[in-house]
Amino acid sequence: MASIIRLPKGTRDILPDEIHKWYHIEEVVRRLCQDFGYREIRTPVFESTDLFVRGVGDTTDIVQKEMFTLVDAGGRSLTLRPEGTSPVVRAVLENSLYAGPMPLKLYYNPLTCYRAEKPQAGRQREFHQFGVELFGAATPAADAEVILVAYELFRRFGLAERLLLKLNSIGCPTCRAKYQKALHDHFAARREELCDTCKDRLERNPMRLLDCKSPICQEIGKGAPMMLDFLCEECTDHFEQVKARLNAMDIPYVINPKIVRGLDYYTKTVFEFVTDKIGAQSTICAGGRYDGLIEQLGGPALPGIGFAMGLERILMTMEACGSAFPQQPECAAFIGSMGDKAGAKAAQLVTQLRDEGFWAECDTMGRSVKAQMKFANK
Ligand code: ATP
Ligand code: MG
Repeated sequence: MASIIRLPKGTRDILPDEIHKWYHIEEVVRRLCQDFGYREIRTPVFESTDLFVRGVGDTTDIVQKEMFTLVDAGGRSLTLRPEGTSPVVRAVLENSLYAGPMPLKLYYNPLTCYRAEKPQAGRQREFHQFGVELFGAATPAADAEVILVAYELFRRFGLAERLLLKLNSIGCPTCRAKYQKALHDHFAARREELCDTCKDRLERNPMRLLDCKSPICQEIGKGAPMMLDFLCEECTDHFEQVKARLNAMDIPYVINPKIVRGLDYYTKTVFEFVTDKIGAQSTICAGGRYDGLIEQLGGPALPGIGFAMGLERILMTMEACGSAFPQQPECAAFIGSMGDKAGAKAAQLVTQLRDEGFWAECDTMGRSVKAQMKFANK
């Protein structure tokens, strides 16, 4: 016999025995978004490579080493989407969705994303995200609402107490410039010890160094200056108001000055929800404000904020916490038959039952009555 062809590295099948869990997550998400007034958007699996280079940023891990890029017959460079925000912004601009009432509230779920990473538990090359994007509102209230959407989803899943919300502000381009300089000087003092990637990032985007997973870079990063000490008055005020809103909504959080996010387009508020239930890949949801992105992608000056969460990691957390899932549906009726004529009648009867909304089946295997009964019991 010929050998079977196996899954590509870092991908997974979702089998019929587990699909009800995905349906459950999808339905809860759909309901949640409806309750908050977010509308669904679906974008293509691949986009022009430029979209991610410009949108995500060419100093990020995603663009530097994780993109699945191909060249089509016309010589165009295309990339399987590694994330959802840049494609959504592209669609907003291309379809002038910003011309309608503001704020514009959109979500995607489940969105397959592709990143050429080293596969491990909770880290795949094809994975699924749910995310929301809120455009047109620059207020702290918008930040708080977006965080609330994520928190409310976790509450509906019974996970709110199992997760920790980490909050930070990475300021605006003005105050960040001073910070980048201070950060650069801190790391430059030990330039020779940095990993090769960080040596390269140091000049272009020193904030990336805080995100580096290499032990030596983390060690050097320990005494690094903190963005929160550099925030300008407007960014400080914005951050204080976001915290006040979260307090008023009883959403617990901790300030974590180390969160800088892996994507270049963030400004001001950034946040993550993490869990200690699923091992090393503990970030379930990550998001933040991206007031510069829309202009960077050729659009008008339009503020935005959003988050994305990894559905595989949510599922892993729910399983680790023993969350309940709705039962798989069961077959309501099997109509057995003997002989051709009765078989045709059985097929008619099951059609009527299906019209009434029941899961009904009849024999399609040409089995004996006894074998049909045995099958129906299974
Ligand atoms: P990480 O630090 O784990 O690499 P990230 O900063 O690259 O995460 P984002 O780009 O912010 O992640 O994506 C949002 C969420 O998508 C993550 O918090 C995580 O839950 C999920 N995610 C990201 N990459 C993967 C992956 N390769 N496999 C599964 N889920 C992922
Ligand atoms: Mg990553």
